[in-house]
Amino acid sequence: VSAVEVAQAHLDRISAVDERVHAFLYVDAEGALNAAKRVDRGEVTGPLAGVPVAVKDVIATKGVPTTAASKILEGWRPPYNATIVERLQAAGTVMLGKTNMDEFAMGSSTEYSAYGATNNPWDLGRIPGGSGGGSAAALAAYEAPLAIGTDTGGSIRQPGAVTGTVGAKPTYGGTSRYGLIAFSSSLDTPGPCARNVEDAALLHSVIAGHDVRDSTSIPQPVPDVVAAARLGASGDLTGVKLGLVKEFAGDGSEPGVAAAFRESLEALVKLGAEVVEVSCPHFEYALPAYYLIAPSECSSNLARFDGVRYGLRVGDDGNRSLEEVMSMTRDAGFGPEVKRRIILGTYALSSGYYDAYYGQAQKVRTLITRDFQKAFEQVDVLVSPTTPFVAFPFGSRTSDPYQMYLADLFTIPTNLYGGPAISVPCGLSEGLPVGFQIMAPTMADDRMYRVGAALE
Ligand code: GLN
Repeated sequence: VSAVEVAQAHLDRISAVDERVHAFLYVDAEGALNAAKRVDRGEVTGPLAGVPVAVKDVIATKGVPTTAASKILEGWRPPYNATIVERLQAAGTVMLGKTNMDEFAMGSSTEYSAYGATNNPWDLGRIPGGSGGGSAAALAAYEAPLAIGTDTGGSIRQPGAVTGTVGAKPTYGGTSRYGLIAFSSSLDTPGPCARNVEDAALLHSVIAGHDVRDSTSIPQPVPDVVAAARLGASGDLTGVKLGLVKEFAGDGSEPGVAAAFRESLEALVKLGAEVVEVSCPHFEYALPAYYLIAPSECSSNLARFDGVRYGLRVGDDGNRSLEEVMSMTRDAGFGPEVKRRIILGTYALSSGYYDAYYGQAQKVRTLITRDFQKAFEQVDVLVSPTTPFVAFPFGSRTSDPYQMYLADLFTIPTNLYGGPAISVPCGLSEGLPVGFQIMAPTMADDRMYRVGAALE
């Protein structure tokens, strides 16, 4: 088949199902077909030539609307591409469009998208996870074979878990943040979403690697994640030590989630892996530390949306002051969860409170990093369920923000540490997908791909 036929087949699938799924905020049919034609003419080669990909709408795509699912960026067409997008193009991929998400990647269900939620293809009355629910749902609904997400506290892995797809958060700094609309700069990590581990590894290998335009990008070679996935797929895990985090055990995973996780763990033991219980005593403080650090950084990053530089502007009738226009624009342009985070972050950073909140959270972050480092002296990877519960019905966790925040209980420690982690499907609970999380040391992304591929 030609690249144009592959692109057209996916565009047809999107036309057929996306009205119900709503994975996409923008479909770039013309751009996709043009890119596919270039592949067919042999003008673009590369390891993923002709393979369609969907990109989370928080990533800048030149000339193609990029909103971060916010009203404040409605109509913005970036004048440049994110580094990742450039690498996707160089690899020959064909971008189908931009996927839905929680506004500015704040949320776990896509219910905070300013353009309406995405529906989980497994059950359209349930959430597809978040913030990258659109990317995950596009994979699950066969609208795209590959997608890009970003993971600040779990936004690649948790949507992967609840849609039965694979989502990998690379080592922080392993993938470039240049052109990614910043939420929490010390945590944000772009990464691959796919329907199986090897595909995720292929996509990872294409987007990862040093970028001079990102000051926190790691100037080291990327581990060979594709070889690791292939090694894992051979089904031998002799000598691999899996660490079971003691502190996660009492954290109330749904019984069906805990059972699916246990069964998968036993399957890995049959392949030769050894399970070792490890203690990470500070993980219980990860959620509160994250909900100080992430909102603090967001309150600073989102200051740029002032009604002057990008997108929306409200109240500029010639009679109002600059300050009034800024305030009216931000009031109209940001949704309730984004406002909550900005207010929380501004408070935590204000003088007199800085040490007690932000400073304290940074200390907790160091302790969590030490927990990981100590654990990795004993084991190769840590394992847990990706999220404590399966896809929940719309509206069931929006009234109490804390209930929503709990979705990331098991994913957030990794972001605070900066290591890589992957979610791989591991069976069903009450007919809905469950995710198995594998966490590895920084710059040892290959390890999670090996164990993840063995699990499939
Ligand atoms: N759900 C978490 C939050 O709301 C994580 C989001 C993310 O990883 N972008 O902050």
